[in-house]
Amino acid sequence: MNHISATFSLRNGVEIPVLGLGVFRADDGPEVMQAIQYALDVGYRSFDTASIYGNEKGVGTAIHQHDVHRSDVFLTSKVWNSDHGYKKTMEAFHKSLERLKTNYLDLYLIHWPVKDLYKETWNALEDLYDSGGVRAIGVSNFNMHHLEDILTDCRIVPMVNQIEFHPSMVQNELHEFCLSEEIRTQAWSPIMRGRVSDIALLKTIGEKYGKSPVQVTLRWEIQKGIVVIPKSVRKDRIRSNAQIFDFELSPLEVELIDALNKNERLGPDPDNFDF
Ligand code: NDP
Repeated sequence: MNHISATFSLRNGVEIPVLGLGVFRADDGPEVMQAIQYALDVGYRSFDTASIYGNEKGVGTAIHQHDVHRSDVFLTSKVWNSDHGYKKTMEAFHKSLERLKTNYLDLYLIHWPVKDLYKETWNALEDLYDSGGVRAIGVSNFNMHHLEDILTDCRIVPMVNQIEFHPSMVQNELHEFCLSEEIRTQAWSPIMRGRVSDIALLKTIGEKYGKSPVQVTLRWEIQKGIVVIPKSVRKDRIRSNAQIFDFELSPLEVELIDALNKNERLGPDPDNFDF
């Protein structure tokens, strides 16, 4: 893990870049397009969007306009809560492809575990995978009991679980369960929307390596085997968030950061959401 092109393997052998750019709350149009362009220029090759973000068009256009080959890009999108169910998921997937100007996705995720529906939605993702429409399929915001439930009768085990994960919400138990099932953990809000900059321990560790608290946090996550997708639309931050491949935290430092956990969420609780 010493270069921006570093990848982790998914359980089906597909390689996923350890670092990607998240684009939640980036406006469709020039804002998201410029962010993707900066990121591609710096060496990012992975982008995390979702139909609900409303910016798939901009993401697709920016990738299309860049001289990067589609096959060198890892593109993720997600099926939104109102599109659950077999038929609606199929339709939502094809609309995402159209907006993203591509004929396949690298990763398609169930965005939230909508009660009583996520298994039917999963069947659709399995069929999309079988038909070659997507190279890997996974879930997001699944707690252990959701995963256990889906594992009882799925044909294909999810390859990824994208969850809230950062120094105030260190979900080690869930992460370890995922590791044991060969489900790759992906961290959303990996830098606590910038708030890790205020954490004293991260500043102290960062001083030792000449790194910022944000960079220390992203390094901690990737050393734990977790994919990170920090969001920024700013050129300087897109660049600095990727400068995490030239230092290594000690096992003790990793443990000290783990111990910052407060089980404090910034986002909704997957067991209690109403959207
Ligand atoms: P992040 O932890 O990635 O933080 C993003 C925020 O931090 C933005 O406001 C950004 O502002 C700012 N920021 C970025 N870099 C720096 C830096 N170096 N120093 C200080 N501030 C910085 O939060 P997100 O919630 O965006 O999560 C990342 C991605 O995860 C999302 O974009 C999305 O793709 C995904 N996600 C998935 C969810 C799910 O349910 N599956 C839920 C939430 C997010 P600016 O852009 O101005 O630089």
